[in-house]
Amino acid sequence: MERITAARGTTLRCKGWRQEALLRMLENVLENGENQKELTVYAALAKAARNWDSYHAIVDTLQNLEEDETLVIQSGKPIGIMRTHKYAPIVVMANCNMVGKWATSDNFYRYQEQGLLVWGGLTAAAWQYIGSQGVIQGTYEIFQSIARMHFDGELAGRFILTAGLGGMGGAQPLAGTMAGAAILCVEVSEARIDKRIEVGYLQRKTNNLDEALAWIEEAVSKREALSVGLLGNAADIFPELARRGVQPDIVTDQTSAHDLLYGYIPSGYSNEEAASVRESDPDRLRADAGASIAREVRAMLEFQRRGAVVFDNGNNIRTQAVEYGVPDAFDIVVFTEGFLRPLFARAIGPFRWVALSGDVQDIRKIDDYILEQFKDNEIAVNWIELANKHVPVEGLPARIGWFGHGDRTKLALAVNDMVAKGILSGPVAFSRDHLDAGSMAHPNIMTENMKDGSDAIADWPLLNAMLNCSSMADLVAIHSGGGGYSGYMTSAGVTLVADGTEDAALRLKTTLDNDTGLGVLRYADAGYEESLDEVGRKGIRRIDTAQFKQ
Ligand code: NAD
Repeated sequence: MERITAARGTTLRCKGWRQEALLRMLENVLENGENQKELTVYAALAKAARNWDSYHAIVDTLQNLEEDETLVIQSGKPIGIMRTHKYAPIVVMANCNMVGKWATSDNFYRYQEQGLLVWGGLTAAAWQYIGSQGVIQGTYEIFQSIARMHFDGELAGRFILTAGLGGMGGAQPLAGTMAGAAILCVEVSEARIDKRIEVGYLQRKTNNLDEALAWIEEAVSKREALSVGLLGNAADIFPELARRGVQPDIVTDQTSAHDLLYGYIPSGYSNEEAASVRESDPDRLRADAGASIAREVRAMLEFQRRGAVVFDNGNNIRTQAVEYGVPDAFDIVVFTEGFLRPLFARAIGPFRWVALSGDVQDIRKIDDYILEQFKDNEIAVNWIELANKHVPVEGLPARIGWFGHGDRTKLALAVNDMVAKGILSGPVAFSRDHLDAGSMAHPNIMTENMKDGSDAIADWPLLNAMLNCSSMADLVAIHSGGGGYSGYMTSAGVTLVADGTEDAALRLKTTLDNDTGLGVLRYADAGYEESLDEVGRKGIRRIDTAQFKQ
């Protein structure tokens, strides 16, 4: 079969831009994905559709769907077409949601084997992945926050150690060099290292630890930014560095440690051996992966004891380590609680937009608009200037930008207007990561140690999805964890199409205001000062039940 890429240009294959936009977003996640043949987008098993029959059925349905119809998708499989109305979503989907006690990784693998579900990751099955760029600003903002908290505001002359150069982890080297640091990324697959070099996210590669260290030391001493991909296993390299007394300034890991069967490759295994043992003796593979993670996390704890800033980058590595004999793994902080919570409390999070025509100039024009109209927004201006210079185009031209309540709406409405006036060469799709203020419950990542203890309450993402449907979004998705994330998270995603129409303006305004509005309220409800301040400043209509105390 021919390799799938997203359609470009302005010729419609569907009955309207809303359907066409979602079709291009689906094609785009596959174009940017890690293993198209398997429909795998990233994170080892996060898929764009249940299987190829489902993919083709989705494509066919979107091409024939009327504007007053809604396509219903269950874990990547299209189930039916419902007559709704033109203000209803074009697509609603629920991916990988299992009932409480049954939401285990064993059940996930069994259901997956039976072809009954797939895991959608956060943005894979919801067709919102935009390549490694989707997490790059998040990773960059983490590094910036660490710089402010620990290194007098800058990372020049600092050494970051990490692992994993996959679909998401591949953003780390570029985020590291954009922040000015020397970053060493350990990766077990040479193909992944080559891919990051090819797309311009990584600078150098070697399979020799001494050579890698020499490059890093030189860059650190000259205070130059540098990224190095080291072919090796993190379970070997991290402990070896600790043994040698090499001391990084910042340490993390973004391998697919959440999944012991399909994600993390144990020490001593090649990718091929892992695939073969997965078939012949899955319990052994799991045990070996768990033991390797334990070794790696012990080294991370050692770096922390010696003074490094160490953090969990959202891959459940600490949870696995505890399971496999490292009781103090949670001495390592998770990135959200450690560095990003004050932003999320104001619903400032990973908003993104995609130029559906494929014209990179559309993204540049939106960049220019932001630089002109958001002059006082330091985060946005700093990021857009950097991204414009450093972030390469992957798939349909896209941009991530951390914006909050009101600003997302302002930007989207302006873009819709630019589409209407023909300033942009085609419509633009807006979405965001599911890992956003009001749309994710994950007690070991997003909502760890919430002020009011509400870490595991999944009402918020469910409310978010219902609210976004009521607000006329174009696509709304509810996801839960798969693999090692089973039982660990629930999230919701949303996509909107700015096609230049008045209806689009109405959808954009209503949905974006309500999406971030709920995000602010979620954190206000948990007692965060920043959120209460935002409620006041932005006029969000919060109901304070304390005022009704009898
Ligand atoms: P991926 O499966 O595409 O890539 C993982 C990479 O790790 C692969 O290239 C693999 O070869 C490599 N790897 C596996 N075991 C290794 C080992 N022992 N040593 C060195 N390299 C090894 O996954 P991804 O999409 O990059 O995501 C990575 C993890 O980050 C996942 O757990 C994912 O859920 C999580 N994640 C976090 C965030 C966040 O917001 N922080 C966002 C997205 C994903």
